[in-house]
Amino acid sequence: MSELKNMPDENGFFGEYGGQVLPPPLIEVMNDINNQYEKVSKTAEFQDRLKSLYADYVGRPSPIYYAQRLTEQLGGARIFFKREDLNHTGAHKINHCLGEALLAQHMGKKKVLAETGAGQHGVALATACALVGIPCEIHMGEVDIKKEHPNVTKMKILGCKIVPVSRGTKTLKDAVDSAFEEYLTNPVDFFYAIGSVVGPHPFPKMVRDFQSVVGIEAREQFLTKENKLPNILMGCVGGGSNAIGLFTAFLDDKDVRMIGVEPAGLGLDTDQHAATLTLGSKGAIHGFKCYNLQDEKGEPLPVYSIASGLDYPGVGPQHCYLKDIKRVEYYSVDDKECLDAFMQLSRLEGLIPALESAHAVAYAMKIAPNMSPDETILINLSGRGDKDVDFVADRLDL
Ligand SMILES: *Cc1c(COP(=O)(O)O)cnc(C)c1O
Repeated sequence: MSELKNMPDENGFFGEYGGQVLPPPLIEVMNDINNQYEKVSKTAEFQDRLKSLYADYVGRPSPIYYAQRLTEQLGGARIFFKREDLNHTGAHKINHCLGEALLAQHMGKKKVLAETGAGQHGVALATACALVGIPCEIHMGEVDIKKEHPNVTKMKILGCKIVPVSRGTKTLKDAVDSAFEEYLTNPVDFFYAIGSVVGPHPFPKMVRDFQSVVGIEAREQFLTKENKLPNILMGCVGGGSNAIGLFTAFLDDKDVRMIGVEPAGLGLDTDQHAATLTLGSKGAIHGFKCYNLQDEKGEPLPVYSIASGLDYPGVGPQHCYLKDIKRVEYYSVDDKECLDAFMQLSRLEGLIPALESAHAVAYAMKIAPNMSPDETILINLSGRGDKDVDFVADRLDL
């Protein structure tokens, strides 16, 4: 296996990024999770269970779709989508939530907990916990609870306990603090299920491994369809799980360019964006080292994107490393470009994308016209836009 595919090192570092920026007792807990994960994930029993759930429960493999009308409209490179939007629960998140729930069950944990912003991670995790039969507790800001009513209802129906958070701005950041405090009351019996390739080691590695099924499938499917690899892979980057899930299987394919697309929000020249890799500086956040958007004191800055799933002031440590060694390029698109891509994809292809995924689509729409029709772009369509339709209709006065 290549060096790139072998990362992180045994201490959870991707170059200088990642690791465990935690007090010693928590490092012990994380190392226990890592040891058990390393052991159980290599057993046939665990792999078979995960494989059969991916197939029969999630609906994997997700297809690859050639978007002919979008391609014709853009008049350049041919555009393909990896259809993670077709997964059960409507996005890629179920891939790692199932893995985390199975691990928590294997470790005999008594409760799985997490925070959620828009509720996407909450719903995927509540689904996985219902499936394996383990109690699930989701912390959510009161402002988000009001905004994201359908997801709150889904979590309740799935049997998950919702803890409303009324401190601070009553949004994601406060929900993280609240969930983490609860976790600290009993980290031995509880499992904090992180929702992306972020957090302390081993989470960036584990979540990446669970998501890498996306790229493994895509590489094979694309070769079968086209007899060659795609010229460019593209994925939106919040924490970075769907993008790294697609990229991992192609890391050694030197001719395949990879592009991560960050949210520029209202513009990179404003303070209303979440373009962490584009404008961030090195520091620690939530237990690991990465590029992040922080003030002089190292406190995370408030960040913003029209897509709440991309709205995070840090980013996965592997992405930081891949940026530095220039294996992956990172660019950003703003809210307006995202909305435009959202509508174009809906009307040209009948695919309503998640606003997160629409960022990747928007960047492809920018560069495809300047490419040759012999070239191809494969985009990870990380989720469907059902959750976003009311917001977009309101915003565009439809
Ligand atoms: C949560 C979410 C994302 C962002 O998370 P990553 O870890 O960056 O992939 C992207 N797309 C969808 C549909 C999501 O729900």
